[in-house]
Amino acid sequence: MRLNEKKDYYELLGVGRNASEDELKKAYRKLALKYHPDRNPENRQAEEKFKEISEAYQVLMDPQKRAQYDQFGHAAFGDGGPFRGGFDFSAGFEDIFGDIFGEFFGSGTSRRHTRSRGEDLRYNLTISFEEAAFGTEKKIKVPRQSLCDRCHGNGAKPGTSPKSCPTCRGKGQVSFQQGFFNISRPCNQCRGQGTIISDPCESCNGAGRVRKSHTLSIKIPAGVDNGARLKLRGEGEVALAGGTPGDLYVVIDVEPHPLFVRDGLDIICDVPISFVQAALGTEIEVPTLEGKVKMKIPSGTQSGRVFRLKGKGIRDIQGYHQGDQHVRIVVETPTHLTPRQKDLLKEFAEVGGEEVHPLSKGFFEKVKQIFG
Ligand SMILES: [Zn+2]
Ligand SMILES: [Zn+2]
Repeated sequence: MRLNEKKDYYELLGVGRNASEDELKKAYRKLALKYHPDRNPENRQAEEKFKEISEAYQVLMDPQKRAQYDQFGHAAFGDGGPFRGGFDFSAGFEDIFGDIFGEFFGSGTSRRHTRSRGEDLRYNLTISFEEAAFGTEKKIKVPRQSLCDRCHGNGAKPGTSPKSCPTCRGKGQVSFQQGFFNISRPCNQCRGQGTIISDPCESCNGAGRVRKSHTLSIKIPAGVDNGARLKLRGEGEVALAGGTPGDLYVVIDVEPHPLFVRDGLDIICDVPISFVQAALGTEIEVPTLEGKVKMKIPSGTQSGRVFRLKGKGIRDIQGYHQGDQHVRIVVETPTHLTPRQKDLLKEFAEVGGEEVHPLSKGFFEKVKQIFG
């Protein structure tokens, strides 16, 4: 008997008998992704399995059917049972499973989506380091599909109107049988629109949309970093048939700065000083985003030492925090010495002896400890 061969719905989905709707969804989604016919073309076993889990899912997701099943088992749906006739996949397949497959199979199953919404667009915008730090306003020209002015988007020559598509009888979709399933696809003749145009609009050749350059003014917030995406809702491609337009994503590309490197909200800047300045101490001018500031360099400053200029970094996008500027000292070793300078340096070394070089003293002591 066929009835006895039927597997338990809960076992099929691998869930407990108290499984919540959420657990059922999760379990089914996992299995369905594995066995979906689109992913297993010509595989009868996978198709059979997909049919089984889909049936189990459809029953268990319906509180009334689930209660019947819990009480009577498969007999509830067999001949003479309250749900005689079994499962109707052709009618409600997309409604029942659309939300599950929509996000995985993209346009494959959530076709209605492609019909009612324009495509998203991406625009790469290069701005300077300072513009990123302080924010700016930019005018950008975005080429995008806009509604045709002449036919107002319906694609038909003014004075004529689109006719219902004979192939799909205006539905925009055609259904066909694939194994057990009744699968719908967008109609080829009308490209899913449900209408065909015998007298196309001359402006858009019947497409209803034309490519136009659109100028937009966008505010770039202060603190934006490389790779940031600004979403401009509704500024993507226009949709046909009164659907919602797509979104525009402006992706920020920040130009490198000749002096500053950004690290989050902080700015790092290397400043060279002479070894005499480092040894004796001095006052130098340091560039910041807001202009030059004076900074004291204490005597005996080593190369690589970092001084912090508090609050001279970048303000975060919300405006609550401001980073610091880190000034990293690079002590320059003099080159191209004159004979007199060489003599002075030799004398300097002889007078000083070893105790004036605490860093190298410590270094050689460590070498001694390690290598003996
Ligand atoms: Zn047109
Ligand atoms: Zn059609």
